[in-house]
Amino acid sequence: AVKEKGRDGWQFFSDSLQDQARQRLVITQGLRLAIANNELSPRFQPIVAAGSGRIVGAELLLRWHPPEGEVSPAAFIPIAEITGVIVPIGAWVFREACRAEADWRRRWGEAAPYVSVNVSARQLGEESLAQDFAAVLSETGADPARLLLEVTETSLMADVEANLRVLNRLADLGLRVAVDDFGTGYSSLAQLTRLPVNVLKIDRAFVNGIEQQRESRTVTRAVIGLGKALGLKLVAEGVETEAQLLELRSNGCDFIQGYFFHRPLEEAAFVAAVDREAGVAEEGGEADLFFL
Ligand code: C2E
Ligand code: MG
Ligand code: MG
Ligand code: MG
Repeated sequence: AVKEKGRDGWQFFSDSLQDQARQRLVITQGLRLAIANNELSPRFQPIVAAGSGRIVGAELLLRWHPPEGEVSPAAFIPIAEITGVIVPIGAWVFREACRAEADWRRRWGEAAPYVSVNVSARQLGEESLAQDFAAVLSETGADPARLLLEVTETSLMADVEANLRVLNRLADLGLRVAVDDFGTGYSSLAQLTRLPVNVLKIDRAFVNGIEQQRESRTVTRAVIGLGKALGLKLVAEGVETEAQLLELRSNGCDFIQGYFFHRPLEEAAFVAAVDREAGVAEEGGEADLFFL
């Protein structure tokens, strides 16, 4: 059937498959060495209170800089998950998150921003995950209650029974859990209430559509209502405009992440941004701190 599309079509098809395979191999081999070669670095995207716009936390977003240039996580994370390289990389990422949490609390005390960190389904499947995380927590002195583990809705629901066990163990360590990209997967709401979840992150796709699409607005409101009813905090992802912010805020969304406020920053720039706010607002005490 493919051949019938003609020579060019076939040519294109086989080339792209080969290219994909080659690219996957190059990425996988590169990723295996990335940690030792110092090619990984964290960015921190501020998460702000919807009311005041003040920074309350940051999501750690991984960047890979091989000698050839920069590779986007959208390109390498899915491959790292398939090949399993995400496990050592995820361990490196979690350690960075703990390191940042401890550093920031030394700098700002209890007012320090929390640290949100992505955890892949593949990591959740590792039998030793909770034990490994516990060891890193104690080595770094990080406060687990200020670490939020982001697990996508799709990975969570892929194997609820297994995830229930591992997430309960992580929650026992004091770690907090967020459902990432909420609204794009297929959550069983009954299952959701069984999992130790603290935060829902509303996917960027809905936030994007808030201004133009009635359905996006309706879904966003429903998700906020659901989260509130379950006693969860809500973070909206990918907020790029003031209109989106106002809609989310008026519907009771607690926290905002997106280019409208901040892009992912190098750590020095993140620290400077928090310092600047601390200098400006000495008097205005923040009542609405995150999910503790
Ligand atoms: P995510 O966890 O949903 O992270 C949010 C993504 O949205 C980030 O992309 C962020 O830069 C982007 N973003 C934030 N605000 C805006 C906005 O206003 N507009 C637009 N257009 N985009 C915005 P990034 O850094 O490219 O990461 C992509 C995905 O890669 C992440 O999606 C996450 O699934 C994965 N990822 C990143 N770092 C890690 C990691 O350390 N571990 C794992 N397992 N996955 C990671
Ligand atoms: Mg995330
Ligand atoms: Mg997300
Ligand atoms: Mg997303």
